[in-house]
Amino acid sequence: MMQPAAHYPKHYCGVFGIFGHPSAAELTYYGLYALQHRGQESAGIVSCHDGRFFKHHGMGLVPQIFNGEILHNLVGDRAIGHTRYSTTGSSHLKNAQPLTVDCVRGQIAVAHNGNLTNAAQLRDELERAGVPFQTTVDSEIILMMLAQPTMNGMENTLVKTLRRIEGAYSIVIMTEKELIGARDPFGFRPLSIGRTANGAYVLSSETTAFDLIHAEFVRDVAPGEIVIINEKGVMSIQAFPEHKGEAFCIFEYVYFARPDSVLRGRTVYDVRKEMGRQLAREHNVAADLVIPVPDSGVCAAMGYSEQSGIPYEMAFIRNHYVGRSFLQPTQLIRDFNVRVKLNLIESMVKDKRVIIVDDSIVRGTTCRSRVKTLKDAGAREVHVAVSCPPHMHPCVYGIDFPDRTKLMAANNSVDEIRRYLNADSLHYLSQEGMVQATTLPRNSFCMACYDGRYPVPYDQVLDKHIIEKRRRTTLTLGEAMERENRQINLLPS
Ligand code: AMP
Repeated sequence: MMQPAAHYPKHYCGVFGIFGHPSAAELTYYGLYALQHRGQESAGIVSCHDGRFFKHHGMGLVPQIFNGEILHNLVGDRAIGHTRYSTTGSSHLKNAQPLTVDCVRGQIAVAHNGNLTNAAQLRDELERAGVPFQTTVDSEIILMMLAQPTMNGMENTLVKTLRRIEGAYSIVIMTEKELIGARDPFGFRPLSIGRTANGAYVLSSETTAFDLIHAEFVRDVAPGEIVIINEKGVMSIQAFPEHKGEAFCIFEYVYFARPDSVLRGRTVYDVRKEMGRQLAREHNVAADLVIPVPDSGVCAAMGYSEQSGIPYEMAFIRNHYVGRSFLQPTQLIRDFNVRVKLNLIESMVKDKRVIIVDDSIVRGTTCRSRVKTLKDAGAREVHVAVSCPPHMHPCVYGIDFPDRTKLMAANNSVDEIRRYLNADSLHYLSQEGMVQATTLPRNSFCMACYDGRYPVPYDQVLDKHIIEKRRRTTLTLGEAMERENRQINLLPS
């Protein structure tokens, strides 16, 4: 039987940058606040005033790390910031971003969202050339490549660096004179440009941050594009003019991005709701109520309810103020962690046939406990509807479920999963239905976690601690294969 995950992976990273605003650090703080959902492990801001960098970072949530005094000391009219959940490198303050270096080019700060697929090889090369790494994150490779002394100017070095790194990256970079934004040629991760009323330029992983600081959306940074923002304005360079094809991560629409963000011209809320409608078109289930798992299933459940005509009820009530639990796992409070976050209004579901809608099933732990709660409360039937297809393959481009042994659908049939969940039926949205809900072409998406087609080749044993492991010992082929083949056995055979 699968054990509940003791430590569930959180979201990945959010990046933000601003150029030309007297309150640059404060606005970056608000920007990071809006991007908190993309990473809750650490956050940091680097500002620049008169060619000097000022930096503060810490572990935890944005408001726990910064206060008025700290922000006041982050002087300057430009700044970049980062919220992080680790996808490469473990959870330490030294790995918190933005990362900075003082080199022949002056000071440089980098904040990165994504995952490099050739990090180990590049780091080897750089270490052999004597580059002293301070962290175990792949983002430092970008920083160190930018810091290499060459006869080329910053623009050429940037293009050269981007053409060497592979995988997923949306980055913001600050030099003593410029704010720079760049996306990998496939455009896996989002990055948009905004502008404040006083004319300051803003870069952000998601447009929701623009709303908070009253900035206007200007446009998305294009895949493979570098935008250089300085006193003269914005300059654009296409670093991969020969490249064809886009591979935007479809899971941004399914789960990661905030519903109030606009990605590639589509409001995430609308796409999620349409995914719910599509789910109802594909799976007609007779039931009395549609219930979302808050917050991740809310939009899709509304869509499902509208399309099917089955009433929608918020039967699970979320506590928004959940911190860490310090209680010991005794019998009495063994399900404290589950119940403290979501409480069920039992009278609402008693004797009812309910459809519970969530965005995805990864390990199955969350869904299983929700079904149990509903059944314990007397629900007559519990049907599970999932607003994306089964996750069959690991993500190597920045979403933290890289190990296929942990993906329930990679190792079990839909009926086995249904039995594990103890649900009366289980329904996933089809791949076609998911794409259709975005109204964008399928070949403009990375759907590797669903269809196994990886736009950029990757090291088969890549996982988030690869840089640390490589230092200890290289995995033997046997270890690598064992790791790939280990299965989750959900049901006794
Ligand atoms: P579980 O099936 O127990 O692993 O939990 C799946 C739930 O976690 C989904 O309903 C999502 O809301 C959320 N989720 C999905 N993918 C991730 C991820 N990579 N990191 C954190 N949460 C996720």
